[in-house]
Amino acid sequence: MAKYTEAKCRICRREGCKLFLKGDRCFTDKCAQDRRPYAPGQHGRARKKVSEYAVQLREKQKTRRTYGILERQFRGYFEKAEMQKGVTGTNLLVILERRLDNVVYRMGFANSRNQARQLVRHGIFTLNGRKVNIPSLQVRVGDTVEVPEKNRKIPVIAEAQEVLARRGCPSWLEADGAAFKGTVKALPQRDDIQFPVNEQLIVELYSK
Ligand code: SF4
Repeated sequence: MAKYTEAKCRICRREGCKLFLKGDRCFTDKCAQDRRPYAPGQHGRARKKVSEYAVQLREKQKTRRTYGILERQFRGYFEKAEMQKGVTGTNLLVILERRLDNVVYRMGFANSRNQARQLVRHGIFTLNGRKVNIPSLQVRVGDTVEVPEKNRKIPVIAEAQEVLARRGCPSWLEADGAAFKGTVKALPQRDDIQFPVNEQLIVELYSK
């Protein structure tokens, strides 16, 4: 499966905001975006005229990279969002939030979405009692994600309780770090998606 290989901090610096791609490091003073808040490369600090297209493109790239998704799949999500009832931009964000790897991350079983994806791929979790290894799987209301007994000693999993205490869990999910278990209580709403994104710009970009 194709994946990003670009240095993660460079991605944040390119997008001009913290995308929290490196887990705990993102909360320390080692964060590259905090230390060097300008685009990477020789001309990173140069003032540029930004076109409307560039603004829309950056918003799309920022969202895509936050969830670690490649262009083709992201486009597929957009097309799915367009076919659903309701506001396309919101539908897109909800689809992204409902990915199993994101849910695992949100439940505190991983430090970053990237790590969550790896853990899911290695079959560390069960979904409704059955082993799963598909990070893009869309969770539904009532689904239960659990770490089987044999996998609970994996360091990042063992720390889930502390991670949850530090980061909290969104209201549409319920997670119990001590029981190594979490449940999808409801579908995410727009207000549950806290990272700064103007999804309308993505809709405008793809509608050209
Ligand atoms: Fe982005 Fe900072 Fe985390 Fe690096 S440490 S991935 S720059 S938020």
